[in-house]
Amino acid sequence: MKVAIVHNSEEKSKQVTKQLTTLLEQNQIQIDNRQPELVISVGGDGTLLSAFHRFNHLLNEVSFLGVHTGHLGFYTDWRDYELKELVESLCIHHEKSTSYPLLDVRIRFRDGKPDKHFLALNESTIKRGNRTMVGDVFIKDELFERFRGDGLSISTPTGSTAYNKSIGGAVLHPSINAFQLTEIASLNNRVFRTLGSPIVIAHTEWLEIKLQESDDYFVTVDQLDIYQENIASVCYRIADERIHFASYRHMHFWHRVKDAFIGED
Ligand code: NAD
Repeated sequence: MKVAIVHNSEEKSKQVTKQLTTLLEQNQIQIDNRQPELVISVGGDGTLLSAFHRFNHLLNEVSFLGVHTGHLGFYTDWRDYELKELVESLCIHHEKSTSYPLLDVRIRFRDGKPDKHFLALNESTIKRGNRTMVGDVFIKDELFERFRGDGLSISTPTGSTAYNKSIGGAVLHPSINAFQLTEIASLNNRVFRTLGSPIVIAHTEWLEIKLQESDDYFVTVDQLDIYQENIASVCYRIADERIHFASYRHMHFWHRVKDAFIGED
């Protein structure tokens, strides 16, 4: 098996990466940062997101696995003191068995420039400098509402516990093949009206946010900021590709949610 390791800049993550590399080599597991079959991230959820963006051109061939060096994350199953056990389990199982939906993001321009295409693991947001963002929300090509406010977030099921949760979105079980639209500070009064609650959109449907002409929009895709002029609209749907996690260890999703947000009794 060929393994790539992606770590964050913290000293602890560098040390863990060193120990992990030694253990992998001792077990004849090859380190290959170009064409890996398994990508191990060492750090936090943000490190796994970076690893995903670095290797998202190989989604049909790679699985991901996260080692956390801080508190338990949503994409990180293994603790830094369990490296030996982790490497032993790599020597036994190889199959990709858990996969989760990704968000397909397509930015369209007014000036005839080719579309830009991205995949998001957590979410994509659309925001505008210091002015009210105005965007027409189309679901399956039909106008649903005109949104005015700070912005919109469109998240995957696994991203529902990230930014989406902070802005009042629902937590979705990652086996649900759907995506969620959540408002960021919408303007709602007697003149302007939006639904005002998050909505969950089926994988058979798509969303297009057509933006009023302006040059100060920015779109985010996970931790990437994409500033572009002349954005006409951003289209979202569930991607054909999925992310595969090496399921060397299974954790009950609601247990993870409880552990992260509520804590033990
Ligand atoms: P980071 O690694 O510091 O992550 C920020 C926090 O979000 C961490 O506590 C991380 O554990 C948590 N997180 C990331 N993905 C998660 C998930 N799927 N479920 C639950 N928690 C999750 O920062 P980064 O590298 O910039 O990560 C980018 C992500 O941070 C974005 O995709 C966004 O979801 C999240 N974020 C959250 C807020 C917020 O909650 N107000 C603001 C900005 C970004």
